[in-house]
Amino acid sequence: TPATTGFPLSFALTPSTDARATAEREAILADPGFGKHFTDHMVSIEWTLAGGWHEAQVLPYGPISLDPAASVFHYAQEIFEGLKAYRHADGAIYTFRPEANAARLQRSAARLALPPLSTEDFIESLKQLVAVDASWVPDAAETSLYLRPFMMATESFLGVRSAQKVGYYLIASPAGAYFTGGVTPVNIWLSTEFNRAGHGGMGAAKTGGNYASSLLPQELAYEKGCAQVLFLDSQEGKYLEELGGMNLFLVYKDGTLVTPESDSILAGITRDSIMQLARDRGHNVELRRVSIEEWKEGSASGDIVEVFACGTAAVITPVAQLLADDFALGTAGAPAGELTMSLRQELTDIQYGRVPDRHNWLTRL
Ligand code: PMP
Repeated sequence: TPATTGFPLSFALTPSTDARATAEREAILADPGFGKHFTDHMVSIEWTLAGGWHEAQVLPYGPISLDPAASVFHYAQEIFEGLKAYRHADGAIYTFRPEANAARLQRSAARLALPPLSTEDFIESLKQLVAVDASWVPDAAETSLYLRPFMMATESFLGVRSAQKVGYYLIASPAGAYFTGGVTPVNIWLSTEFNRAGHGGMGAAKTGGNYASSLLPQELAYEKGCAQVLFLDSQEGKYLEELGGMNLFLVYKDGTLVTPESDSILAGITRDSIMQLARDRGHNVELRRVSIEEWKEGSASGDIVEVFACGTAAVITPVAQLLADDFALGTAGAPAGELTMSLRQELTDIQYGRVPDRHNWLTRL
């Protein structure tokens, strides 16, 4: 393949010679689960210090071969994104706020001293992959094609410095409905022993290390019968941060929505969209520090009436209870809150094209 450089990139396509047959693909799409199956192609773009981004390719899906000295294996320069492609009733395929994911990947790259990929090239990579693998976008209710862009340092060099050779990749995985048989509230576990990220660290970047850091506390959460772990700030251990893979909202009786502000959490695109939709409805929305004490008090007084988590995978997940070593907040088995469910409905209606896209959040792929 000829190397392509410059802006915007042009992509060379090498079609897969062993793409799954229709029957096999349809069997997968009938029950895709999450993150288990991958489409027939992937995108790869190379970056070098001397040549910038070049060699943009759509290739058959398959292993990436790296030298054992590739710096990502040693120093973990890896960042990623997650967004979805949705099939609308007319068959067309759209994605949701991809420019926000592109911007977040650029911020993650900056924090890990990786090169920025332009928003235009990022979105073009999504279009290129979905163009060849369009038949992998399912059409059943609440299903989607999950898109996983990622970037890593591929240079073979054991010195600790920013890499001079980097790869950007994009893979895609069909995703089933997150909740089958109704949206079910979950319990979450308060981690007081472990933090996810520290002040001045990498918490605001979507980098693998933050997820590695969450796995042990996540295991403890599972042991307590909880679906997710809630982290507190690392300095004072007083303020809410986020869950292992979702942001959190508290809803007050007067209709105020509160979500934690912190420089060590991931700024969720679902979170931002929910803030906008709630403001559109006239709700007061506050992005500010929220202490665990505030949640305790609001729970005891009855002022906090709903709690939910949000992120691309599940959109909105109602929270029934917060469990901690020495206390529990909320009610066991509590049903999903009314506002929680109506915001979830509105957001998914926009994503699936069932209502007008008044904020211009959709991009056709
Ligand atoms: N926090 C963390 C740690 C996450 O992994 C995610 C999922 N990307 C989120 C929040 C929610 O972000 P988004 O709404 O952009 O999916």
